[in-house]
Amino acid sequence: MNELLTIALSKGRIFKETLPLLKHAGIEPLDDPETSRKLILDTNRPEVKLVIIRATDVPTYVQYGAADVGVAGKDVLMEHGGEGLYEPLDLNIARCRMMVAGPASAPAVDGRLRIATKYVNCARRFFAEQGQQVEIIKLYGSMELAPLVGLADRIVDLVDTGNTLKANGLAPLEHMADISSRLIVNKASMKMKHRRVKNFIEAMAQAVQD
Ligand code: AMP
Repeated sequence: MNELLTIALSKGRIFKETLPLLKHAGIEPLDDPETSRKLILDTNRPEVKLVIIRATDVPTYVQYGAADVGVAGKDVLMEHGGEGLYEPLDLNIARCRMMVAGPASAPAVDGRLRIATKYVNCARRFFAEQGQQVEIIKLYGSMELAPLVGLADRIVDLVDTGNTLKANGLAPLEHMADISSRLIVNKASMKMKHRRVKNFIEAMAQAVQD
């Protein structure tokens, strides 16, 4: 019996960098999500489907079994909490760092630092571990703007080359975590579709190595 395997992916960097790994594992989508409006993509393998969703929704789809497996950034997983998920494989793609950043000549701040970020849970945990009192301000994008307009003293964001920070007069201040994309697996799928899922993990692990 050929059990269905549903893979959750987000558009953009993760899709582009996962595609060669999937191809290596013998899976090729029949549509391009950047041009197609379809949210469920067929592949060359009739029993394998891709669902194309927002990056931050990937852990939720996999947690509830709407997808058997998925690819999610470690940043998204740390913020989600990772309940109900296995994380068997580091795909070593979309690598970057999660950092605290602020004005290049960071002025000393009296009292509570204000931190703008979309990673509110990660930021809260990080500063709590440091014993530092902070006020967290949730944003959904363009975090770099916040210190420039006096909305926050610092930001927590992903940094790759550092060019975005630099272009806005900001500098990395503290390293929080190394980030890369991970293969995640629904716990029930791991049991109920064991061979199917295990074969897929092994094929992807081989693709990462080669
Ligand atoms: P950079 O200017 O190269 O340091 O890139 C920083 C910008 O790209 C920030 O807006 C980040 O949120 C975003 N970014 C960098 N790396 C990643 C990644 N691996 N996944 C998602 N966004 C990223």
